[in-house]
Amino acid sequence: MNFSFSSEEESFRQEVIDFLRPYRDLEGFIQQGEKWAQVEALFRAMAERGWLSIAWAESEGGLGKSIAFEYILWDEFGYARAARNPLSAGIVAKTLIRHGSPEQKARWLPPIRSGDAHYSLAYSEPEAGSDLAAVRTRADLDGDAYVIRGEKCWQSYAQNMDYFWLLARTGDLDSRARGLSLLIVDRHAEGLRIEPLPTLDGDQLNAVFFDGVRVPASHRIGPENQAWAIMGEALADERHIQFPAGRVRRDLDDVCDWAEAHELTGDPAVRARLGGLAAEVREAEMHSLNVLDAMIHGRQATAAAAANKIAHTLACQSIARAAMDFGGELALVMGDRPELLWRLSLWETIGGGTTEIMRSVVAREALGLGGNR
Ligand SMILES: Cc1cc2nc3c(=O)[nH]c(=O)nc-3n(C[C@H](O)[C@H](O)[C@H](O)COP(=O)(O)OP(=O)(O)OC[C@H]3O[C@@H](n4cnc5c(N)ncnc54)[C@H](O)[C@@H]3O)c2cc1C
Repeated sequence: MNFSFSSEEESFRQEVIDFLRPYRDLEGFIQQGEKWAQVEALFRAMAERGWLSIAWAESEGGLGKSIAFEYILWDEFGYARAARNPLSAGIVAKTLIRHGSPEQKARWLPPIRSGDAHYSLAYSEPEAGSDLAAVRTRADLDGDAYVIRGEKCWQSYAQNMDYFWLLARTGDLDSRARGLSLLIVDRHAEGLRIEPLPTLDGDQLNAVFFDGVRVPASHRIGPENQAWAIMGEALADERHIQFPAGRVRRDLDDVCDWAEAHELTGDPAVRARLGGLAAEVREAEMHSLNVLDAMIHGRQATAAAAANKIAHTLACQSIARAAMDFGGELALVMGDRPELLWRLSLWETIGGGTTEIMRSVVAREALGLGGNR
């Protein structure tokens, strides 16, 4: 890889930094649930500039820019801790553009582009997290609608979203990956219930219960029973754009500032530890650029995106752990930066697929070593 941004892309970075000044430290990146009203307003302000659809083709209603612009956008959002890429624009819209019918695109893309429709991903279940092919939530056709029954868990942001992007079983009980379909489900549909699952950082995930929820058959994206192939691309998108290098750079900068403020950086051991972390951060950034490079050149990015997620989330853990090690009890003050980073870093290696599963993906996709997802 020999990657560099063009001068147009670099000036866009400056435009994003300027735009973000009023939103810097909104903390929507790490605590979106709590900050939803402000984050939603920020998404609308972005939508006015066409930034939620910046890399969609003009024929799909986007600005038709290179995906490098999108990368820069979310990199700087991560550094400013303003917000994460919304799952609607980052994952759902891209899948719709690849696999939706013209009618589905006309219906679902404009409200995503304008920041009026937000989605939560409803994949995981109590018995199907790493092993997504074990999903049991059923979607059975009844006339012109699917009837959904089952239970999902760990849905990020569901409490504030408008729709679920639901992975459900439409095939036989033992059909595994060959019997899954993707459906768009209105959060306010009759028979749907959401319960909060509190998280370590004071925010929440959710459990979602479907008790005979009727969903028009036209809300199925892609062919019935063939969601698995679609999911591969969607998960690669998630493991890239949801884990921008800017966030890791910021974690390290914050810990350096914190160490200086507490007069810890006079210690050569502390400086050496921070220097080592800088190398780890750079490595995470190289992984992010590697995925971007693959996407720009139309290469398969599954393994690169999994490697990106590993590097990014382990770097977050290394940074938080280092602050705990050299900060001692100072670093344990509740709500102070190192302590919060520590709590956040614990679950980042799980959401979007665990480190163990990401390593298996890399072994299979990059080393050709076979095995299950
Ligand atoms: C912060 C956060 C946000 C999330 N957001 C969402 C969301 O929006 N939507 C959604 O659907 N889900 C979401 N999830 C769920 C997440 O995708 C799952 O938690 C994750 O895939 C792991 O599944 P599990 O919790 O069932 O653990 P399990 O699959 O039960 O795994 C338990 C342990 O066993 C290990 N393990 C399992 N199988 C293997 C294997 N084959 N080889 C080696 N080790 C293995 C795992 O690595 C893990 O350490 C979120 C989770 C978190 C923590």
